[in-house]
Amino acid sequence: MVNDIMAKVLDSKIPAGPVPEKWKEYKAHQRLVNPKNKLKLDVIVVGTGLAGASAAASLAEMGFNVYNFCIQDSPRRAHSIAAQGGINAAKNYQNDGDSVYRLFYDTVKGGDYRAREANVYRLAEVSNNIIDQCVAQGVPFAREYGGMLANRSFGGAQVSRTFYAKGQTGQQLLLGAYSSLSKEVQRGKVKLFTRYEMEDVVIIDGRARGIIAKNLVTGKLERFSANAVVIATGGYGNTYFLSTNAMGCNCTAAVQCFRKGAMMANPSYVQIHPTCIPVHGDKQSKLTLMSESLRNDGRIWVPKKLEDAKALQAGTKQGYEIPEEDRDYYLERRYPAFGNLVPRDVASRAAKERCDKGFGVNNTGLAVFLDFSESIQRLGIDEIRQRYGNLFDMYEEITDVNPGEKACTRDGVDYYYPMMIFPAIHYTMGGVWVDYELQTTIPGLFAIGECNFSDHGANRLGASALMQGLADGYFVLPYTIQNYLADQSIWPRLSTDMPEFAETEKAVEKEIDRLMNIKGKRSVDSIHKELGHIMWEHVGMGRTKEGLEEGLKLLKALRQEFDTNLFIPGSKEGLNVELDKAIHLRDFILMGELVAYDALHREESCGGHFREEHQTEEGEAKRDDENFFYVGCWDYQGSDDKAPELIKEPLNYEIIKVQTRNYKN
Ligand SMILES: Cc1cc2nc3c(=O)[nH]c(=O)nc-3n(C[C@H](O)[C@H](O)[C@H](O)COP(=O)(O)OP(=O)(O)OC[C@H]3O[C@@H](n4cnc5c(N)ncnc54)[C@H](O)[C@@H]3O)c2cc1C
Repeated sequence: MVNDIMAKVLDSKIPAGPVPEKWKEYKAHQRLVNPKNKLKLDVIVVGTGLAGASAAASLAEMGFNVYNFCIQDSPRRAHSIAAQGGINAAKNYQNDGDSVYRLFYDTVKGGDYRAREANVYRLAEVSNNIIDQCVAQGVPFAREYGGMLANRSFGGAQVSRTFYAKGQTGQQLLLGAYSSLSKEVQRGKVKLFTRYEMEDVVIIDGRARGIIAKNLVTGKLERFSANAVVIATGGYGNTYFLSTNAMGCNCTAAVQCFRKGAMMANPSYVQIHPTCIPVHGDKQSKLTLMSESLRNDGRIWVPKKLEDAKALQAGTKQGYEIPEEDRDYYLERRYPAFGNLVPRDVASRAAKERCDKGFGVNNTGLAVFLDFSESIQRLGIDEIRQRYGNLFDMYEEITDVNPGEKACTRDGVDYYYPMMIFPAIHYTMGGVWVDYELQTTIPGLFAIGECNFSDHGANRLGASALMQGLADGYFVLPYTIQNYLADQSIWPRLSTDMPEFAETEKAVEKEIDRLMNIKGKRSVDSIHKELGHIMWEHVGMGRTKEGLEEGLKLLKALRQEFDTNLFIPGSKEGLNVELDKAIHLRDFILMGELVAYDALHREESCGGHFREEHQTEEGEAKRDDENFFYVGCWDYQGSDDKAPELIKEPLNYEIIKVQTRNYKN
């Protein structure tokens, strides 16, 4: 499938044998570490979100000594706590035809056939263990009246396989992982470093042997050594400035590992979520997600007539005043088989298409309606509030509109105030390249959770990120890391006095001094906001060759502006949030360039990557399997100023037939 000659060959280490047997085979033959040797081995886990906390707790429970880092004041404040809608698993409790195969198939198809088959099959296989594990921890998943765990539907699936705890699934899962972690902290097997930021990875003889971390309270740099380093530091959505991610989300650890030789895979695969509260001004620094679960019962529409849209934009008409026959439920019209539950990339593009044609429903013309009138009529407000009460409250708090409040009755039909929603940056499918063992291109450095690229291809299905983070942390890494650590117990514990530690620390210190001494005129936020504009405008939902080339030029100019005109108040000693943000911004700019390079080279549309030159007559994404059936991996060339080198990892499908994605019938 791939024509070019590969400059470097990446070994994805996918085990031999039939896809459904690969993981079992791997576990049967991998190397193990004996219990005595585990006590001698140290593992650094950076991150305490669902991926990091589950990995740290599991590795410690197995006997390894774990050093666990996070930038927040408590592991419980990792961004994972924001996850609302749910977590997928192939339990088939609904008896609606689900199976491990179907979850695997939906995920590969949802990712527009750009994920590795073997990884996704393993993910689907362990999904059921995750639910059992979390129930055992006491996670209060929603239940049916009879006591059975309840499920709801998410996009890209025709079965109900999403387990949830109201609109707070991430919070409850994180409390479960945190309780396991706390047990290990109490046992002394996990040493927790809160408010510490990893600034660099220390490489000795080609292997990851430790990190340099900044104590965010004192400002001091500290050295930590270990036999392996795991990063679980989340995604790079905040490259776009406005996103649904928590304000602290950053990609500094991942980008610093990239600078040290860990390749970055598929950076252009960025997820734009269709149901977010629209931007309402230029003073905003954060966007709010309205969970995809709302699409179970909410119907998405815009007016059929342009004059109605214009009246809505001018504020002379309200949504509820538009009669049923003048409403265009465009997802149900275009995709009858999946309707409002098409995957996120498809729903986002469809909203953009309607708004581009002038049918947007708010004053900026950049919003569509999400309406619960029909489901409230059918199920009653109590039932709907039980399902989405806290999401309705959140929406009302932000917009002062209550979607559960009746607006009028017409012809005996009750109409409720609809929500207004619009697509926003939400998740990053791309990330640090890892092999089947979740090991990066630097031996001894592993990447798990959202910060790796492993399982979602070009588009992630809803409720699959929590599944992947917990699969990596509870069920995959605890096996695969042993294959690496098996011969590491013969090494003496490495001293942090070694020259490699001193040199890396010195380089970090020098870089901090450089940033502090720029002493320009612009705040971090003002440059970050500009970065966001460039990314959204040129590397956003619809991409073109010209736009991307222009975007790359602007990004390079912005880096120049950052390097010469940045102003950081205060000093590097003690707490300095602006300095921390500046470090993050330095890496967001490089990440933005990586996203643009990848998007420019990928002359096809797939999943979250939509090149306007490559679409069907109906406006659907047009893939080019002949030339782009591979993972695009980017290799750092020694300087931020040099363009990265592209290395291709060919994809190889054994059981799924690669075809055009179809959600219409
Ligand atoms: C609003 C919202 C709702 C969502 N809802 C869902 C959902 O319903 N279902 C679903 O499947 N997915 C959902 N997602 C996606 C999902 O929440 C994330 O993909 C997932 O939680 C990421 O987990 P993680 O452990 O990889 O990273 P995170 O939870 O982001 O954790 C990152 C950790 O790394 C630490 N860290 C970062 N950088 C450093 C550094 N340099 N040094 C030290 N520590 C560092 C942080 O302190 C933190 O502990 C949602 C996302 C958003 C934004």
